[in-house]
Amino acid sequence: MSDAISFDTICAVATPPGTAGLSVVRVSGPSAVAAVRACFSTSVDLDVVPSHTIHYGWWRGGGGVIDSVTCSVYRAPHSYTGEDVIEIGCHGGLHVVDQIMTTLLDSGVRLADPGEFTKRAFLNHKLDLTQVEAVADLIASQSRIGAQTAARQLAGGFTKRLAALRTDLLDVCGLLELELDFSEEDVEFVDKEKLTETLRNIRSYARSLADTASSAEVLRSGFYCAVVGYPNAGKSSLFNALLSRDRAIVSDIAGTTRDYLEETIFVDGYAIHLYDTAGLRETEDSIELQGIRITTSLIEQSDLVLVVNDITVGNAHSDTLCTDLTSRFPDAKVVVVQNKVDGTDIVPANDERKIYCSALTGAGVPELRAFLARRVAESTSAVNDVLVNGRQAALLRSAADSLTQAIDGLGAQVSNEYITVDIRAAIRLLGDITGETWNVDVLDTIFSRFCIGK
Ligand code: GDP
Repeated sequence: MSDAISFDTICAVATPPGTAGLSVVRVSGPSAVAAVRACFSTSVDLDVVPSHTIHYGWWRGGGGVIDSVTCSVYRAPHSYTGEDVIEIGCHGGLHVVDQIMTTLLDSGVRLADPGEFTKRAFLNHKLDLTQVEAVADLIASQSRIGAQTAARQLAGGFTKRLAALRTDLLDVCGLLELELDFSEEDVEFVDKEKLTETLRNIRSYARSLADTASSAEVLRSGFYCAVVGYPNAGKSSLFNALLSRDRAIVSDIAGTTRDYLEETIFVDGYAIHLYDTAGLRETEDSIELQGIRITTSLIEQSDLVLVVNDITVGNAHSDTLCTDLTSRFPDAKVVVVQNKVDGTDIVPANDERKIYCSALTGAGVPELRAFLARRVAESTSAVNDVLVNGRQAALLRSAADSLTQAIDGLGAQVSNEYITVDIRAAIRLLGDITGETWNVDVLDTIFSRFCIGK
């Protein structure tokens, strides 16, 4: 890839559509300053103002004044995209933004594709691919903890780790190649056991990082929790109590919830998606049966299943349901919530496996929320400052496989020449994670997650 990439000039609204206090229109490219200057009346000459300065003035177009705006000027290469960038801060009315965009498009600036600003940042070496992916995660992150982790990745946390691994692998390659240079003299100055140990450590680190991908997905998208149980156990009441509002219909008529409801709560920085589901019971009612089928598929998709039981009728229901669920969904994580303790002399409590509460009075509900947050924290504890995604995990696993070949080669006294081929393959695969080598398909997949203006 050449260092000098020339692009046309693009623009897009960087803020969400609708009325707001302010909106931001972004312009990037070689003629950004000229295009803005044509519409922006201000007391300074934008051609000569220093980078990272903000200027107040009037935006004009269609023969009149459109809005009073500020223009933030960033000069290449010290900008997000690495090009000349101007961010126009205007009032957030739909028409204001629309007219500013129209004047820019009329002056020959092109509407940006989704993610095109960030794509230019990558192509101009302002961000590597792990940072580009962190930008997408930061924007899309459902939880505070997910956003914080993405921010650390954006700051280069992943890049540094990968660079350290690559340096270690290059050192190993260097030693093996050096030994090869002296092969005629039959000197063996490389401690093969030590090298094998180093490669094993790097391999297990790469694998453990790849294994955090599903936990990272929980931080990115949230933790899914299905509330299931027999009709009238109090599922909808508990769903409402956890949300602290009346979202689901509560009724003592069995079979009221036939579809499912999904809502999100935020506890201790985690996003927890709750599903209120149709009661599980034998029924002939075709709509209720459909609801039960949906419940079954929600159980499969959930990270945790809360089996709500009406304690006033005993444990038989929840015992039967738990046995049934664990045999049908062996991977499901199931926890019983004993509800309606207000009708008994049981004290609301929470012993990690059985939770006692009253959805009606709210007793034990804060403890249940805290329990859910602890579950998310446990299930994501392996994630540190990197939100590994599917693409990265696949590359890490392939790199680990190449290292297995190198390790096997070392064990079988294979010539260093062949071993370094495998190690170099691992180095290349790690480089693909940051985007040292890339192809159009990879970029298209990554940028398809972005919105226009980013
Ligand atoms: P679902 O069918 O499992 O969703 O149950 P609902 O939430 O619709 O509740 C069924 C009935 O049980 C309603 O009359 C609720 O008011 C009642 N109920 C739910 N939770 C409690 C509770 O904690 N204590 C008492 N006493 N009644 C409850």
